[in-house]
Formats: sequence, C-alpha cells, structure tokens
Amino acid sequence: MAFEKIQMKTPLVEMDGDEMTRVIWKMIKDLLLEPYIDLNLEYYDLGLPHRDETNDQVTVDSANAAKKYGVAVKCATITPNAARVKEYNLKEMWKSPNGTIRAILDGTVFRAPIVVKGITPYIPSWKKPITIARHAYGDVYKNAEAIVPAGAKAELLVTLADGTQQKYPVHQFDNGPGVLQGQYNVDQSIESFARSCFNFALDTKQDLWFSTKDTISKQYDHRFKDIFQEIYNQEYAEKFAAAGIEYFYTLIDDAVARVVRSEGGFIWACKNYDGDVMSDMVATAFGSLGMMTSVLVAPDGAYEYEAAHGTVTRHYYKHQKGEPTSTNSVATLFAWTGALRKRGQLDGNAPLQDFADKLEQATIRTIESGVMTGDLASMSTLPEIRKVGTQEFLLAIKENLDASL
Ligand code: NAP
Ligand code: MG
Repeated sequence: MAFEKIQMKTPLVEMDGDEMTRVIWKMIKDLLLEPYIDLNLEYYDLGLPHRDETNDQVTVDSANAAKKYGVAVKCATITPNAARVKEYNLKEMWKSPNGTIRAILDGTVFRAPIVVKGITPYIPSWKKPITIARHAYGDVYKNAEAIVPAGAKAELLVTLADGTQQKYPVHQFDNGPGVLQGQYNVDQSIESFARSCFNFALDTKQDLWFSTKDTISKQYDHRFKDIFQEIYNQEYAEKFAAAGIEYFYTLIDDAVARVVRSEGGFIWACKNYDGDVMSDMVATAFGSLGMMTSVLVAPDGAYEYEAAHGTVTRHYYKHQKGEPTSTNSVATLFAWTGALRKRGQLDGNAPLQDFADKLEQATIRTIESGVMTGDLASMSTLPEIRKVGTQEFLLAIKENLDASL
C-alpha cells in the first residue's frame, strides 16, 4: 500500500500505563498508528513498576511535559491500595496518578460516551453524547467531619487574617448524638473550572449547562453560580453568541429532569459530588465503560486524553494465563485519536486531523457492521453480531481504515 506516513511537528506526550490497557496500548500503536504516522512522542512510563522505581517522579514529569507541549494521551493506571502494594512489592502506596496530574494541570475532567448505532442507551431519547464536567476539587472530598455526642453544640469558627473571629451556629445536639461536617471550596478553583468548561464548550461547539442547589445553599452553591455567570458575562458571552451555542444555568433537580428528557449533545458541568454520581449514571445509561472517553482540560489550554475506565484487571489476569480476551479498546483508541486531532489542530497539521477522523470512523463502522467485543455484543440490538477477541477487533478496524485511505 502506497501510504505516505504523516509527519508530526510537535511531540505528543505519551503516558503508558498498566495491565490490560497497557497490552491494548501497544496493539493500538503497532497496528493502527505506527504504520501510518511518523510518531513524534515524548514517552513516560506510568506503569506501576516504573512509578515505584522513580518514587513517582515520572508522574510529575509527565504532567509537566503535558503542560509544556499542550497535549497528552494517557493509558489507564493502577491506583495502588494495600493489595497492590503487596502484589507489586511497592516501596509506598503511591498516590493516584490522575490526581497528581490533575493537581499539576489544575484541570477539569470531561467524560463523554461514544455513541454508535446498535448500542442503544437505556434512555432511548438520548441520540447524542452527554458530556459531564466534574469539578474535581474540594467540597465533601476535602471535608472535616465528626460523630458528635449528645449535648454538644456545633459552630463554624472562622479566624480572619487579622485574628478576628466569626462564628456561625450549626446545631445544638440536645436530642441525642449525631454527625457533623465542614467543607470548603476556593474561588480560584471554581474560576478555573468555569473557564475550562466555557473553553471546552467553544472547542466542541456544544451548549454548556451548569447546575447547583443554590436555592438551598444560598452562600456556598450560590457562589458557584455567581462565579460562572460573572466569567461568562465578562469573557465568553460574545464568543458563545458567535459560535451559536448557549450557557444555561439551572437547579440541579431541574437539570436531572431535563437531562433525562433531552436528546443529548451538550456539556453538563457539575459540582464535585454531583459530577461523581451523575457521571456514573450517565455512563451506565449509555452502555459500556469501554465506550466512555475522558479528557482533562486545563484552564491554560493543555489537554490530556484517556479512557474513563481502569486497567481492566480481570481481563488482564486471563490474558496472563494465555486465555482469550475480548476487551473493548474503543475508549483507549479514541483517547489517541482525540489527542492526535488536538495536536493536529494546534500545529495546523491537517493530515493528522484527517487521519484521526478516519480512524474514528473506521472504528464506528466496524461496530455498526456487527463486529464487536463481548461487552458490546451482550447489549447490541444489531441483527447479526460477530463477537471478536481483543486483537481481532483492532485488526477489523485496520481493515476498515485501510479501505478508507
Ligand atoms: P475497570 O478497570 O474499569 O474494570 C471494571 C470492569 O468493567 C471490568 O472488569 C470489566 O467488566 C468492565 N470493563 C471496564 N473497561 C472495559 C473495557 N475496556 N472492555 C470491556 N470491559 C470493560 O475498573 P476496576 O476493575 O475497578 O479497576 C482496575 C484498576 O484500574 C484498579 O487498579 C484501579 O486503580 C484502576 N483504575 C484506573 C483508572 C484510570 O487510570 N483512569 C480509572 C479507574 C480505575 P467484566 O470483568 O465484567 O468484563
Ligand atoms: Mg463515581
């Protein structure tokens, strides 16, 4: 085949990972990328053994590289727990790489499903993807909490920089013991969140919805609403109008009702806890985790693309024993195409963008022709389905891709 390899001007930051997704990662590169692109990659091995060897420095270095070059693609990685410390004989229980990268990039995570014919969402009116943006900072995830005995009096005490104190009564536990929680957020993080959301809406030409419980939480949640509105008015209203998209604020309860009745095709920005819960709801309703993509967008415009799922450990243990697997590589593949397209956009590299489009289309055509992995086969409504193995699926995509080049 006379295909001239596509050149890349600026490096793409590659963050390798663990287990089954590491296996898939290599297959994608070998079969679907290297034959077509003269890959210009800055490689960081975030596989757990190498994180342990470098005392997790490699994670920090990879995030700084993402900041420097503007685009990264990340494989799923193990977040160690006690069992993993034993399994990998780790020096320490290293922190979640995603948490480390997010803290350095100060980014917001956008999760979106890949929608294909024959995989019908549980909510049949959903025709287009719903992208959830979760503010992954503060609130209940950084709280202080306590179990409080009967008779206790709880107050919020704030000591200002000049030493003066303000007290806010919370509750008098006269009728027995109870529980208590204090939480916070900071304007700067909410502002970054807002800018990431507005930028991503412009980037993807989708409406942006934002919801909180501001009618009940008249200071805390209301602050989120105000910050979004101020930044929108000052920095984005004109750009949104020019792009023909809308910013829409509503109460979280109303948002839930509207989302369920909608056709999809918008971004839903959520506070930390709402985003945690709603992203799992939306992901489940759209179908398989293997079809859910995720992109971390920094307020200064750096992007890190990945699959929303983990390292698919159960499949990896089968793979290690030499047993056949049928792991869905679509979300990981779309992390690559997302990153390559973005790299192409930033560099003005049209062939690279075009290749990313064609690879995505070949993937969707493959599934819509009935060729799919087990997770999709079990839920597809297509009349004829051929369930294939992990590598067979990628080879089928390659055939479709070659036909389109
Ligand atoms: P997981 O890797 O997402 O897998 C959970 C289950 O979901 C799998 O066992 C499989 O179900 C199904 N699944 C997920 N992705 C699939 C795919 N691509 N194709 C087919 N089926 C898929 O979550 P986990 O087992 O809870 O976590 C495993 C490891 O991943 C953990 O060490 C965790 O720390 C890490 N993790 C990393 C990230 C990240 O890097 N962003 C995110 C989450 C978890 P069946 O077994 O029923 O087929
Ligand atoms: Mg969750």
